[in-house]
Amino acid sequence: MPIHVAIVGSGPSGFYTAEALAKSDTDCRIDIIERLPAPHGLIRYGVAPDHQTTKNVSRNFDKTAARGEVNFYGNVDVGHDISLDELRAMYDAVVIAIGSPEDNKLGIPGEDKDGVIGSAAFVGWYNGHPDFVDLAPDLDTANVCVIGNGNVAIDIARLLVKTRAELSHTDITNDALDAIEAAAITDIHMLGRRGPVEAKYTNKELREMGDLENCVPRIDASILPAAVPEDMEMSDRDRRLRNKNLDTLREFALGAAEDLPKRVHFQFFAAPREILGGDKVEGIRMERTEVVDGRAVGTGEFFEIETNLVLPAVGYRSGGMEGLPFNDDWGVAISDDGRAGEGLYVVGWIKRGPTGVIGTNRPDGQEAAKQILEDIAEGSKPGREALEAFVTKNGGRIVDFDDWLTLDAHEKAEAREGAPREKLITVAAMLRVLDGA
Ligand SMILES: Cc1cc2nc3c(=O)[nH]c(=O)nc-3n(C[C@H](O)[C@H](O)[C@H](O)COP(=O)(O)OP(=O)(O)OC[C@H]3O[C@@H](n4cnc5c(N)ncnc54)[C@H](O)[C@@H]3O)c2cc1C
Repeated sequence: MPIHVAIVGSGPSGFYTAEALAKSDTDCRIDIIERLPAPHGLIRYGVAPDHQTTKNVSRNFDKTAARGEVNFYGNVDVGHDISLDELRAMYDAVVIAIGSPEDNKLGIPGEDKDGVIGSAAFVGWYNGHPDFVDLAPDLDTANVCVIGNGNVAIDIARLLVKTRAELSHTDITNDALDAIEAAAITDIHMLGRRGPVEAKYTNKELREMGDLENCVPRIDASILPAAVPEDMEMSDRDRRLRNKNLDTLREFALGAAEDLPKRVHFQFFAAPREILGGDKVEGIRMERTEVVDGRAVGTGEFFEIETNLVLPAVGYRSGGMEGLPFNDDWGVAISDDGRAGEGLYVVGWIKRGPTGVIGTNRPDGQEAAKQILEDIAEGSKPGREALEAFVTKNGGRIVDFDDWLTLDAHEKAEAREGAPREKLITVAAMLRVLDGA
């Protein structure tokens, strides 16, 4: 009997697991179950629309999906359309690959005011994620505060200051493109609790900030050290990368004489303390910090920035899933290097937390495949026939891989000139294309 494996989630970690299983010598039936009709997780809904080459990895995932032993079951939400326990009863192994879709909180007063939008929602909005189509962020503000010093913060800042010409050849949604073009934004404040040495963005992303049509980066040169301090512990590679970032920030500081209509201000040593205003954000109160033993410590000196839009990009967590052992403090599954129970495995961000690049998920997938093949000699459960019968009996509409190819072709055909696709941004619209209703 083949081993029947269900993989819940079709982001990189799910696909890398499927690939490793499909390429093994063992006879496996691999079913990728995804709550949205479209596969690829954050490749489609997280990676910045102006970084199309990064998204090319999804072509490899599509090759995996097209393999005979792999099926795709889109539009099936585990925990809603079928429980994890029910799935475990049908499959010899279940791999949870659901990522970390929730924003970490700032944990400061006023955070729930209208106009504070976490990066998961904001990025989801401009990337056409069905959960965030109605977000309608109010961009009628001169100042925007982006909190965080990682690549997601940079992505958001860059997207908000790009011109229509710079964005129109990307797969940003038409709605987001129109809203960004009409925005009143002139100044983006990138606020980081720690210093330029600790900032986590990669140099490629940082450099892009100095190469924009309508926007110039600003930074106070006096806060930039000549190099990462020798006594700061890190690998040689990290030291090289961070010194490169310091060089780039220094170039930005030197080029600051140039003036363009928009500015991105890199502000370090600044921790958010309170979101100001009534129901709606009117400003943010910040405290200056110094870094002591790698941690940002408040100095007691405060300042305020007037703004109607605060976008925290301070990391992600998962909310877990009923039946999955879960550490609520850390927002990740509890597992022994991926083994989370009998026939239950975790991979990707739900296993490790939200760190690393797309390729970091590959070893996870390979490890999970190895564990499954070590733990299960032979299959004994019904697998996909039981899943299909269960979902359709309950009135569910499974979106299979051929359906996805139909949606993919439709999106490409509907693209504005020069763009790779115009995304279908609601589940209903996707199903309408498939079923012609
Ligand atoms: C804004 C942003 C930009 C990024 N940009 C880059 C980049 O440029 N380069 C790079 O290398 N990395 C980038 N990353 C990191 C990269 O996207 C992640 O490493 C990777 O996507 C994590 O893979 P995953 O499979 O764990 O999770 P995800 O990609 O989040 O996939 C999880 C999948 O599970 C599905 N799912 C969730 N719950 C259920 C459920 N109950 N039932 C069924 N399905 C479910 C989700 O819909 C989703 O499709 C970025 C991340 C973010 C957040």
